[in-house]
Amino acid sequence: MSVIAETSELADISEMVRAGERLSFADGVRLFRTRDIHTLGELATVARERLHGKAAYYNINRHINYSNICVLRCKFCSFYRPFPKDAPENETKEPRASARANHDREQAFPIIDESRKLKLAAPSDTYELSVDQIVARAREAHEHGATEVHIVGGLHPTLPFDYYLDMCRGIKTACPDLHIKAFTAIEIIHFTRITKPRLSIREVLEQLREAGLDSLPGGGAEIFDDRVHDEAYKNKVGEKGWFDVHRTAHEMGIFSNATMLYGHVESIEDRVRHMIKLREHQDESLASRAAHFNCVVPLSFIPDDSDLSHLPGPTGLDDLRTLALARLMCDNIPHIKAFWIMQTPKLAQVSLNWGVDDLDGTVVWYDITKREGHGTHQELTVDKIKRLIIEAGYDPTERDTLYRPVQQK
Ligand code: SF4
Repeated sequence: MSVIAETSELADISEMVRAGERLSFADGVRLFRTRDIHTLGELATVARERLHGKAAYYNINRHINYSNICVLRCKFCSFYRPFPKDAPENETKEPRASARANHDREQAFPIIDESRKLKLAAPSDTYELSVDQIVARAREAHEHGATEVHIVGGLHPTLPFDYYLDMCRGIKTACPDLHIKAFTAIEIIHFTRITKPRLSIREVLEQLREAGLDSLPGGGAEIFDDRVHDEAYKNKVGEKGWFDVHRTAHEMGIFSNATMLYGHVESIEDRVRHMIKLREHQDESLASRAAHFNCVVPLSFIPDDSDLSHLPGPTGLDDLRTLALARLMCDNIPHIKAFWIMQTPKLAQVSLNWGVDDLDGTVVWYDITKREGHGTHQELTVDKIKRLIIEAGYDPTERDTLYRPVQQK
């Protein structure tokens, strides 16, 4: 045991972590509130290096956000646009004329509360990608070394389930070995509602898997708490629905990830409870299901242009504490990812010494969240990712979606 840990207010927790013992809710809250941040970082590093040694993972991937049209209005979300009322129904396979011709176009909404009204009055800001456009992007990514496409979008009111099946089939036909990680639990439940007759979660997943879906991302979990749900995303499927999808996926042998959106209206206790719920689900999946969570992705809330833009969002230290806590509390989930879009590349780099072992990937295009001044082109080259990792004292290790090592040809 180091001198720091021996004299720390966290000495008892330090002993538990070093012995590989599970931490309680009270331990988690204490760790969150400690002023001894150095010991917190050190303990998260102990847990991280016990699992992964000096490896720090990244992948070459491409995010594709197929449409920003959504029937919901989650307060933390700056991505959604309402369905344009004058749009023709059933225009499903090709993008509307209003689709963004240049996907890299900067958004020009002022970062003030009034921005939401402007946004709602700007239907031309909506877009839908056609299946052909999605397949073209996937093919281009594959040609540039991508091993994964990460596909998510809004809950579109008129696109039929076939659109999602066709995009998976199209990508697999064009690039059979490209891993399709697609559709948050919320989208999967949306698909059960748009099919006629309605399909179950299992039936939706079966059809998507048959079409080419390989795994699920972890989005839409937000914070597993009724008060936070009612305050920030009242009409969205909550904890039960999210776990239903991931439980079913794991039973079917489909691996998935898990997220936590933090730094808005939740409390520290809510965050710790969220992590424990993920841990409990993982215990069950590891014991009795064919697949499980691969990683936890704590997502740092970016208030810009959302209905919660009056909130300050997490500080850098809050980000580090949360990532370290995720490593220490979710002791049965192999990987902790800093999604650099949310935490910034600089802080994601620091977090490699705070429990994080994965920096996600090259991303390239990302429409869901943008910090002020950022467009949708958000890319880290492999060389930049490697530099971040090496400077932090770790070994860059390219992985595929399931964390198997990749050797680029
Ligand atoms: S978070 Fe997802 S479901 Fe909620 S409004 Fe945004 S796109 Fe729609």
